[in-house]
Amino acid sequence: GPLTTAFSTKEAMLKDWGSWDADFRAMTKSICDQLVALAGDTSGELVCVPMQGSGTFAVEAMLGTFVPRDGKVLVLANGAYGLRAAETMRYLGRAHTLIDKGDYMPPRGDEVGATLDADPGITHVIAIHCETSSGILNPVAEISEVVYARGRKLLIDSMSAFGAIDLDVNRIRYEAMVSSANKCIEGVPGFGFVVARRSELEAARGNSHSLALDLHAQWAYMEKTGQ
Ligand SMILES: *Cc1c(COP(=O)(O)O)cnc(C)c1O
Repeated sequence: GPLTTAFSTKEAMLKDWGSWDADFRAMTKSICDQLVALAGDTSGELVCVPMQGSGTFAVEAMLGTFVPRDGKVLVLANGAYGLRAAETMRYLGRAHTLIDKGDYMPPRGDEVGATLDADPGITHVIAIHCETSSGILNPVAEISEVVYARGRKLLIDSMSAFGAIDLDVNRIRYEAMVSSANKCIEGVPGFGFVVARRSELEAARGNSHSLALDLHAQWAYMEKTGQ
């Protein structure tokens, strides 16, 4: 995987930071602002929530925070990370259904549309932007159009794409996307981040199954304190 950590990044890590301190809070805010800008947001519609842990922690945080407990997720899989998203839903004990395309084919708009038409209970779709394990760049723009034409919501795992492959929210609609600091961004290992619509995050209060992975709580506390 693209897990390069530049020498300049490692060098910057030699300094110890205090999470309470103003310079660290300013750096956290600057990182979030830059990630939101990278997602193409100019209107303040999107917010960024950093999440401690590896990328998987951030994926679980996104699914647990944005999918209501009575929601149902259509998981689009064509490799290990799609299947892991389905397994995460199983751990969360929330309803889900799976389109598994194996290791060679992308999920296409027409079959996603047909599945949504056949099951009005599906509230959300999770798509893997670049399925790292099979190397497939999935057609997220096509999937997004089909999802929103049917009034459902899209979540994207862009772990190994964001920062290298365009995911401009003005061109591809989504409620939230997740990526990690040290894949294409080539930053400090050890945290991921979710870029989400502010309104969706505000509405997600109380959804999460987990204290440590509750993106709404993480965001609300950071808004209040900068920490
Ligand atoms: C790497 C990756 C993950 C998981 O990230 P970890 O940091 O290994 O936990 C999830 N989804 C995709 C598409 C990935 O490439």
